[in-house]
Amino acid sequence: MIELKKNDVGDCMSRCEHCESNKTRHVLSISKDNSLHLCSDCYNELMAQELGVDVELMIDSFSLKDYEGTSRTFYVEKRLGPMGIFLEANENKEYGYRFAVHGELNCDQQELLNKLIAKARRGTRKQYVKEGVFPSGQRYNTLATNQIIGLLECDKASDRIPLVIIDGKPFTWDQLGKMLMSYEGFQIKIEIFDETDDVE
Ligand SMILES: [Zn+2]
Repeated sequence: MIELKKNDVGDCMSRCEHCESNKTRHVLSISKDNSLHLCSDCYNELMAQELGVDVELMIDSFSLKDYEGTSRTFYVEKRLGPMGIFLEANENKEYGYRFAVHGELNCDQQELLNKLIAKARRGTRKQYVKEGVFPSGQRYNTLATNQIIGLLECDKASDRIPLVIIDGKPFTWDQLGKMLMSYEGFQIKIEIFDETDDVE
């Protein structure tokens, strides 16, 4: 019996031990000192066998238009586990948009994908940061409304304070702070949500 333990190995460059072609994304522990380094496809295949679930074929990318009509392309990643099916759409650039949904193991996977695409459509439809120009010609960022929905991402350059991804673009906390200067005296609420939650 394979122990269903998953460790994310991040940016590991080694090759999958099963298909020997794709990059390793997961480590599957078979016994105490025996583990398999697998790509996402092989990991999901093994996991599907173990859990008695069929992995439905689905598109691996999709594109949609954002709030200003710019086309955004997302890669879909699927992860099967004892807790269910996790789908993630990552924009094809560093620090871009990212959306995720979670479904039960026996859920309709096509429907789950539709849910992911709908979430990406909703999440890219609204602009939160807009650019203004001072009379001097100098450009500045400001809030488009009184709300910001974004993502917290590891800043690979500083590896300390996370970046805030808004409108599919990275901002530092300093840049965010500058955008809030015109709101001095107002209240602010910061609330954290799981990646798979719907945030309005
Ligand atoms: Zn593989």
